Order: sequence, then structure tokens, then C-alpha cells
Amino acid sequence: MTEVEFIKNKRGKWSQLGVPHKGWRCIEIEDSEELSCNCEMCESQPIRYIHHMNHTDYPEILKVGCVCAGHMEGNLIAAKKRDDFMKSRNSKRKRWLSRKWKTSSRGNEYIKVDGYLVTIYEKNTEWKGVVKDLTTEKPFFSKRKYFSSNEVKLASFDLITKFLSEK
Ligand SMILES: [Zn+2]
Repeated sequence: MTEVEFIKNKRGKWSQLGVPHKGWRCIEIEDSEELSCNCEMCESQPIRYIHHMNHTDYPEILKVGCVCAGHMEGNLIAAKKRDDFMKSRNSKRKRWLSRKWKTSSRGNEYIKVDGYLVTIYEKNTEWKGVVKDLTTEKPFFSKRKYFSSNEVKLASFDLITKFLSEK
């Protein structure tokens, strides 16, 4: 069965009293990189791209699949767009490390992409990265410890995905 059918059959929270069926808002979309959990609304659909849904009359954020998200927010197209965006980011992510990075005068690798400038550098055996928004000029510095250039490059990519998904 598909998520559409789970909704038609009122699976999970679609038939539970006290759970609003409309008026939800998506606050975040996440790529869990595997079918690691079930949609928390129909409680049936295994999901990889997780839409985090918020409602003023419900105490918890529900992590749901694309079709449930669309019904919950009353906009199937918006939900599908978010899902497609994450899928395209995922295929770009696979090519991210093999893209042509340039080297700055200081010897640091950098790349300009999607309105951001990513620069990475090594400091005291740790790798660090800066993602600068080229419109606002605002830099975002990596906070976690990274032990390889690839690791910090991927983290930078994920940060840009997050920024783009919020636009
Ligand atoms: Zn669902």
C-alpha cells in the first residue's frame, strides 16, 4: 500500500481523536539517509525524507512522510516540492566531493555554489569550515570537530541544504 491509501484507510493518527488533521506547518525537512522510521501520522509509511510538522493545538512535532505532510498542511504541491528538493540535494551530495575545489592564496580549498562560498582549512590536526552567504556576507563557522577534509566538506554541504530548504 502507498501513503495515499494509508490516509484513505485512516491509519494511525488519521483516526485518532485529539490529533488535528489540518492546519499543520512544516518547520524542517531532513534526509535520514535510509528508511529508518515510519511516518508518525499514518504510522505505516516507512520514510527517508522526514517532514517535521508543527501545530499550535498539538504538543509534539510529528515526523511524517511527503503525502501525509501535504494533507496535514493542505498543500500537496508544497510537500512534493520539499521532497523533490531533498532528493535533488541528495544526488548533488554524492557528487560534492568530486567537484572541482579551488585553492586560495592561503592554500585553503574553496568553492562557490548556490549563493554560498565554502572554505575549509586545517588547524591543529582538526578540519574547519566556513560557509559564507554571498548575499548577506554572513559567515557560519563549523563548531564540531572534523578529522578529514571530506567530513567538513559534507557538513558544509548539509548546512547549505538546510539554509536553502528554509528559503
Ligand atoms: Zn504518513
